[in-house]
Amino acid sequence: MKVILLFAALLFGAWLWRAGRRAKLKDQGLRNKPPAPPQTEMVPCLHCSVHIAQGETVQGKLGLYCSTEHRQLAEP
Ligand SMILES: [Zn+2]
Repeated sequence: MKVILLFAALLFGAWLWRAGRRAKLKDQGLRNKPPAPPQTEMVPCLHCSVHIAQGETVQGKLGLYCSTEHRQLAEP
């Protein structure tokens, strides 16, 4: 009888450990989920009309440019 109780306790312990681990892994999985990549909008250069990603543009007084050179040419 003692052996059965011990075996049951071990099984219960293993089940608890596994359940806890699974919950932890699931939690980590949700936290490590990479964020959706930001939408890179393509905008035309005000000077040469070449489309460039918004993050790589140069801000001018009149608008966005592909380079500082074009900003200087368009906005003297
Ligand atoms: Zn340009």
